[in-house]
Amino acid sequence: MARRRTGPSETVRELVYQRDGGQCARCGSAHLLTIHHRVNRGMGGAREAWINRPENLLMACTTCNGWFEDHPGESYEAGWKVRRPQRPDEVPVRYPGGRLYRLTRDGVRVMAVAVAR
Ligand SMILES: [Zn+2]
Repeated sequence: MARRRTGPSETVRELVYQRDGGQCARCGSAHLLTIHHRVNRGMGGAREAWINRPENLLMACTTCNGWFEDHPGESYEAGWKVRRPQRPDEVPVRYPGGRLYRLTRDGVRVMAVAVAR
């Protein structure tokens, strides 16, 4: 019997947790962590293959997870949220301390240079 699954696998969750150092990607808290989707899952779950891959996922505490939804402008600016049709591997993420990283599908983060807009 197939189990219905709309979220990331345990393996991917573990990768994201390790990549983000077991901390919230916005505030650095290690408490009440959840997996945050940078590009929202559409209605009816994931259509794109990358929606549950590491580059689309961040560790976020429950406070920041709600903050992202309440502050979309700042969240897009920092890469905590990504707007379609941009892809999550194209948009760097600002981590605590202000460093920008690009996220890869392998669950690695690579230091990025800020691009002037
Ligand atoms: Zn947080």
